Amino acid sequence: MKQNNNSNMKFAVVLTLVVVGIVVAVVMFSDKQNSSPMDIKQIDVTGQPSIGEKDAPVTVVEFGDFKCPSCKAWGEMIYPKLVDDYIETGKVKFSYVNVLFHGEESTLGSIAAESVYERNPDAYWEFHQALFDAQPVENHDAQWITPERILEIASGFPEIDQTLLKEDMEQQATMESVKIDEDLVRDAGVSMTPTIVINGKVMEDPFNYEAIKTEIEQKMQDEN
Ligand code: CA
Repeated sequence: MKQNNNSNMKFAVVLTLVVVGIVVAVVMFSDKQNSSPMDIKQIDVTGQPSIGEKDAPVTVVEFGDFKCPSCKAWGEMIYPKLVDDYIETGKVKFSYVNVLFHGEESTLGSIAAESVYERNPDAYWEFHQALFDAQPVENHDAQWITPERILEIASGFPEIDQTLLKEDMEQQATMESVKIDEDLVRDAGVSMTPTIVINGKVMEDPFNYEAIKTEIEQKMQDEN
């Protein structure tokens, strides 16, 4: 009887330890899940369209998609402030990486943008802007990124050779660059667009400009 009680007690202790172990493991695992996407390593922006001082102390990377309405909104609401406060003052270098969350249209838009970047780097940012401007305000899920529409947008840029752009789209000539972007998206664990990364730190809310400013100032201090 005593023997039995002892084993029951032992069993209870072991059971408690197992349960505590599981709880600790779950907490650690979910912590890791929560923290890892928020703080990743510096994004390698080699070969990416970039604007601002080459050696600026802080690098801001936008992971965006021409099909994404929030990216268009971010470009209208937050990006101009970033340009005025930090890019033009030489404090921030800004790079854009394509995300293909909307499938074929995202891919086509990215291929075209990469083609313009390769052939006419000086026209890239304006073309980028023109693509976002062409995104319909309503019913943006309907197909609008087509080769015809892209050529129409490109016709506003005398320096862009439309025949070459058409060929690049048909032959998916810049697919290699698009694949590099896909790898960056995967490595950074990007799950929404736009995702804004400041010196490796993923911003929780890309539309919180105060938080973006605080993060940039902090990173500038870290650099000093
Ligand atoms: Ca790219």
